[in-house]
Amino acid sequence: MVRLECPRCGALYEDGRLFTGCPRCRAEHVPVNLAVKVDVARLAHLATEGFPATPRGLWRFRALLPVAGERPVTLGEGATPLIHLERVGRRLGLPRLYAKDESQNPTWSYKDRLCAVAVTHAVETGARVVTIASTGNHGASTAAYAARAGLPCVIFTLASVPATMKTLMQAYGAAVVACPTPEARWALMRQGIERLGWYPTGGFQAPPVGSNPYGIEGYKTLACEIAEDLGWRAPDLVVVPSAYSDGLWGIWKGMRELRALGLVADVPRMVAAEPYGPLAAALERALETPAPVRGEGSIAFSIATRYGTWQGLAALRESRGLGVQVTDEGIFEAQRALAREEGVFVEPSSAAALTAVMQLVARKAVDPEQTIVLVLTSSGLKDPGASRAWLPEVPAAGDDFDALLGVLRERYGLELHG
Ligand SMILES: [Zn+2]
Repeated sequence: MVRLECPRCGALYEDGRLFTGCPRCRAEHVPVNLAVKVDVARLAHLATEGFPATPRGLWRFRALLPVAGERPVTLGEGATPLIHLERVGRRLGLPRLYAKDESQNPTWSYKDRLCAVAVTHAVETGARVVTIASTGNHGASTAAYAARAGLPCVIFTLASVPATMKTLMQAYGAAVVACPTPEARWALMRQGIERLGWYPTGGFQAPPVGSNPYGIEGYKTLACEIAEDLGWRAPDLVVVPSAYSDGLWGIWKGMRELRALGLVADVPRMVAAEPYGPLAAALERALETPAPVRGEGSIAFSIATRYGTWQGLAALRESRGLGVQVTDEGIFEAQRALAREEGVFVEPSSAAALTAVMQLVARKAVDPEQTIVLVLTSSGLKDPGASRAWLPEVPAAGDDFDALLGVLRERYGLELHG
């Protein structure tokens, strides 16, 4: 029996379909997501035996996940590389700067960790239809895993999302509809859940409370893989692009459980990279729960939200972490640096993680000896239009080689003498 626990008031619930947070805290006007209660004592054997070597990827860590997992819905998610960013790190004076490249998941984003677990839970609990409100990554991933499970999928998106995202969501067979506002999407999605029993992989209420708590457990496997790749040590800082902080909270929960099991000695400080900065503002103002902030549009549309969540703020507070507000200009600089200096092309929202570190370096707020892990959440191919903003038109080459050398010099600054 999987139980859900409120991380704020400690209340325990056995209703498997509590997707709108803790009822008791909501009555106090504090939206808090529930979290799966993990019985660490029952997992004590992991401290000595560790995790099995197979199956490769996320399901190695099934002991920490809230599903039987005997027939998981899987596309081979997880086991993504931890890449040492030597060149960018050297330039920033951070010799131990790493990127967890989550664009190497099946639908090219870290949402696959959430959706593999959530859709497996959906199947195990008899769901007939899966649904999500999404600007892209979460929708594409939900659609793919629903297809894998053989379940119909209904996705509520916004007309403004890039065509690539709409194509991906539809290509996996989901019924995709566009709504005028986020709130309008949630209202329709809620009716599907309450009237017809649809299974949600994400949140659907205002103010937002966070995503499906079973799915969020999938993000704990990021903590496992990062710690394992560092020789079963937690890094000093983990930097996560953050909207409602599902990933940030899930990684933090995973790190805490690894420490409770004795698999790591310490936990990292968590850093949220956020376009509008609701968590940074809440920390600065010492609020108990984040208040909505102003937001005027961001290239990082996947994480651009005026709302933070209680548990996102709690992860920063408990870990002595911080929120860093990022700008479009900073995001493009980081996206260029990752692609050109390291060969890693990520979505603007993902590049926000490096932007945050660049800001912390400029403020002298990081110790150069620290081990820092950026979670690069999604591929640059999800929004290629955004990168065109800083790329030149592709120049034409004629049939004359000397003319070509001139073009390479003038348009790309390449001096290539024989
Ligand atoms: Zn509560």
